[in-house]
Amino acid sequence: MADFIGAVDQGTTSTRFMIFDHGGNEVAKHQLEHEQILPRSGWVEHDPVEIWERTNSVIQNALRHGGLSPTDLVSIGITNQRETTVVWDPRNGRPYYNAIVWQDTRTDVIAANLERSGKGEVIRRKAGLPPATYFSGGKIQWILENVDGVRQAAEAGHAIFGNTDAWVLWNLTGGPNGGIHATDVTNASRTMLMNLETLDWDEELLDFFGIPRAMLPKINPSSHPDAYGSTRTSRPLSAAIPIGGVLGDQQAATVGQVCFSPGEAKNTYGTGNFLVLNTGAELVRSENGLLTTVAYQFGDEPVVYALEGSIAVTGSAVQWLRDQMKIIKSAPESEELARSVQDNGGMYFVPAFSGLFAPYWRSDARGAIVGLARYNDNAHLARATLEAICYQSRDVVEAMEQDSGVHLDVLKVDGGVTANDLCMQIQSDVLGVEVSRPVVAETTALGAAYAAGLATGFWQNTDELRAQWHESKRWSPQWSEKQRAEGYAGWKRAVERTLEWVKVP
Ligand code: ADP
Repeated sequence: MADFIGAVDQGTTSTRFMIFDHGGNEVAKHQLEHEQILPRSGWVEHDPVEIWERTNSVIQNALRHGGLSPTDLVSIGITNQRETTVVWDPRNGRPYYNAIVWQDTRTDVIAANLERSGKGEVIRRKAGLPPATYFSGGKIQWILENVDGVRQAAEAGHAIFGNTDAWVLWNLTGGPNGGIHATDVTNASRTMLMNLETLDWDEELLDFFGIPRAMLPKINPSSHPDAYGSTRTSRPLSAAIPIGGVLGDQQAATVGQVCFSPGEAKNTYGTGNFLVLNTGAELVRSENGLLTTVAYQFGDEPVVYALEGSIAVTGSAVQWLRDQMKIIKSAPESEELARSVQDNGGMYFVPAFSGLFAPYWRSDARGAIVGLARYNDNAHLARATLEAICYQSRDVVEAMEQDSGVHLDVLKVDGGVTANDLCMQIQSDVLGVEVSRPVVAETTALGAAYAAGLATGFWQNTDELRAQWHESKRWSPQWSEKQRAEGYAGWKRAVERTLEWVKVP
């Protein structure tokens, strides 16, 4: 009997397949990394064919590890790294170019020109996003303008676009033999091409980027019983399993953290940090550098909106300590090293490696370590790195409070960095609010499973999901108000030092 839900989590560094039971417990999983292709400074690419191969392998391996057959799955959900852009030929499934990853900054000229020409304001109003290299629109334009033959192919219907959700969905549902070309509202809301009010591709926005509408996937709700079809009967599942849900990774984590009411928020600490606040039916336009985005849409229900603060570098600053500075051998060692000192010793580290995302949106910023004295050492740097993760989150929380008027009583957290107890304690100190981590750490895959399970009646409603959320650990603030205010003032001064460091074209 089919008793489980599967979730494909196609992430920035790896792809995983997870299988959950009715209680939302993990039953099996498998995960494989893919290559980070870095052709030149600022460029980041993935090979879409490798991603599809990895997706095949993790699905088959997870089923094998769990001793399950494909027909044990009621439904499958898909979640993905957002914004990363694939353009392929639907006649044979061949990509025209590598996937251009969300972190890639090659479209800085496109973004700067949009701002300069006043189109940025239109994009902000219609799509809820500032013109930035981060989003898909400029990446599609770059492929159309720089890869031979793609524009003609797109106009003839022989080049189609998708984020990696659409790429995986199209392949899973048959590829050149009837594959479904669709995405969900959350992924579409990250392209700079979707109008947040009509929830459809917007002609004026398409025109800004010169993108033919025929290239774009159909936009569906995030959870739907038949919008996404079923898996093809060949590899990897060899059975027709319904695909019930698609959600961008941060929106999936919002669902996995059961933030179903306006005012509820989660903060995910991975490569970067992504704080998402549910604003319900209200489309809140940020005046403080946050993104307006779609949280989710379940079936025929109205869409639920969110405010998001996206931070480019958090966990990856810990990787930088490990791989470039070589002061630690593993990410968890950052905790031990930082614990060996009482405080940051006056030192601040702003990891603005590729500029600053929310709430600053400054592509002219670069990283800085300031406040150094002869006394400082590696331990202070480790501590300043963990503090930087937390201070960047405070910047976003402050912006969120100003935009929404919502004051957080508790911050729900997840992601790789939350294994670092010291970092979570610092987060609570820096914010002056409680920080809470759930039992199921894999909230992204869980959220995709929830979307798929709701579509097929495996779960009846969000109250049922809410009851499955359990806390594993909570941190309470220990700093005095004075300590908190002085620390944050130091951080703000450090951020100032990083601005106007490079010239933007
Ligand atoms: P993603 O989904 O973005 O790949 P994950 O949620 O898997 O990210 O988290 C990975 C990130 O977490 C890495 O950048 C790593 O440096 C960081 N990380 C993992 N464990 C720790 C730890 N104990 N302390 C600090 N950072 C950590």
